[in-house]
Amino acid sequence: KANAIRANKSAAGFSLGLPNAESGVVTRFPPEPSGYLHIGHAKAVMLNHYFANMYNGKLLIRFDDTNPSKEKVEFEDTILEDLHLLNVVGESVSHTSDYFGQLHAYAKQLIKEGKAYADDTDATTPLVHACSCPPKSHGKLSQMAHERFHGIPSSKRDESTETNLRRFEEMTAGKGAKWCLRARISVDDPNKAMRDPVIYRCNSTPHHRTGDAWKVYPTYDFACPVVDSLEGVTHALRTNEYRDRNPQYQWMIQALRIRRVEIWDFRRLNFIYTVLSKRKLQQFVDKGLVRGWDDPRFPTVRGIIRRGLTVEALQQFMLQQGPSQAVLSLEWDSLWALNKKIIDPKAPRFWAIVEDKRVPVHVRNGPAESYTKPFPKHKKNPDVGEKVTTYSNDLIVEQVDAASFEEGEEITLMDWGNAIVRSRTLAADGSVASLIVDLYLEGDFKTTKKKITWLAQSAARALVHVTLLDYDYIITKKKLEDGDNWEDFVTPETEFREEALADANVVDVTQDEAERIVQFERKGYYRFDGRGAEGRLEFIRIPDGRAASLAS
Ligand code: ATP
Ligand code: MG
Ligand code: MG
Repeated sequence: KANAIRANKSAAGFSLGLPNAESGVVTRFPPEPSGYLHIGHAKAVMLNHYFANMYNGKLLIRFDDTNPSKEKVEFEDTILEDLHLLNVVGESVSHTSDYFGQLHAYAKQLIKEGKAYADDTDATTPLVHACSCPPKSHGKLSQMAHERFHGIPSSKRDESTETNLRRFEEMTAGKGAKWCLRARISVDDPNKAMRDPVIYRCNSTPHHRTGDAWKVYPTYDFACPVVDSLEGVTHALRTNEYRDRNPQYQWMIQALRIRRVEIWDFRRLNFIYTVLSKRKLQQFVDKGLVRGWDDPRFPTVRGIIRRGLTVEALQQFMLQQGPSQAVLSLEWDSLWALNKKIIDPKAPRFWAIVEDKRVPVHVRNGPAESYTKPFPKHKKNPDVGEKVTTYSNDLIVEQVDAASFEEGEEITLMDWGNAIVRSRTLAADGSVASLIVDLYLEGDFKTTKKKITWLAQSAARALVHVTLLDYDYIITKKKLEDGDNWEDFVTPETEFREEALADANVVDVTQDEAERIVQFERKGYYRFDGRGAEGRLEFIRIPDGRAASLAS
């Protein structure tokens, strides 16, 4: 198999390629329209997109809408918007429901060939029994699950073709809700996925696209291989927890004698302190623990982009994962560190000082009239443009800086020059209430230890009122286990707000994606999120991959 791999060097430097790609590549992303896309989906999308491009092939988008009880049209729209955010455009958008007619005909063909049968073995009521079923599910397995576990044939397994066809027609007509159709593969194959899986179920809920045309719906196990084959997919990328189901996927295709599809497994993505289940995320939204699906604390595509993750970093990160198969929970830090490398050379640099920690500074020999001077927004990248720095004899600085100064100490006011601290006034609580300094511009900034940010108070160019937001993980446990009640692990406080004053240039920051990420020097990277209460400009802190940088 290895020699069939046409290898290309990925951005990450290792070979990332698909087997048997010589005669063209068609990949697909098949989301179920039941929620918003999250970072796990982003991996699936980006790998599919990457391979389609690498081989000059095509990426198909297909809504996997086989369960009318869970799916909604509104989610199709949000998923398409999410794909757009990820810069992914598919060759076409289709629906599994486009193929309901063909799938139904294929199911009948299987019955006629003795490869499928109708079954009414109870698949929902838990059995009360004593046997060697796995301890976890003991007493919870239905009759059908119990039979599959022990390799016991269904009592309907050997019914005649005529009977099976008649029962499937009844299911299709909406009579016989408890019946299903099962592929007749094996009773006791060591791979339990091969033990006569269900391929059609009854459901009388109207479908968001086909209305009440159908009373029976194909399962994912049946629809996915068939539609992949019909749509010309050459390589189906699947997360590796489906590996046991790969032989079943191939069985469906062979039983129907339709075009073969290659399967390529990749690792399912998980992160520490992160919930990726759509159902649990929905509960966080419903309980008001976050503000919505696009909350910056959420691992949704919208959430992480809002938090300041760039699509470029996401792409690089996903390709670095490459063909690795180990199942593990990743750290967010490495992703944010990658992101930092991308934003740092481009983010314009401004200054901000926390409002209730500001200390007024009088510069005795400073300019009586304020004046301005142009500076590059980024010292190493003139393409970022210019800003204007205001100078006056009344400044503010951060309390932590002020508190560290000694009288007589020579410090550097960044973008201005050196100054000597002449006197400090202390407040009752011991904090610094005000400072008096003298400029000492002939001093050498290379000799000072402290190079500080400051802001000039000037009537002509008012400081900008901003809010700096920072977030914590929404759960307190690295990895939620199956039996965990997630509500026991909700972090009590996850949003931290600080009001700050920023330099006058900040008023020009827009929500344009190319411009909204900035650096507040000596604080970190932020993404402009829009205007909040009282017109304050809200900035969300972008983690930079260094250990906990949460507001103290
Ligand atoms: P699944 O059914 O696998 O739990 P899902 O129901 O959450 O996924 P789907 O809409 O069915 O979401 O997923 C669309 C595609 O995204 C599938 O190919 C699925 O394998 C992939 N996917 C979903 N979650 C992850 C993840 N955590 N890591 C990698 N790929 C994922
Ligand atoms: Mg799914
Ligand atoms: Mg899921």
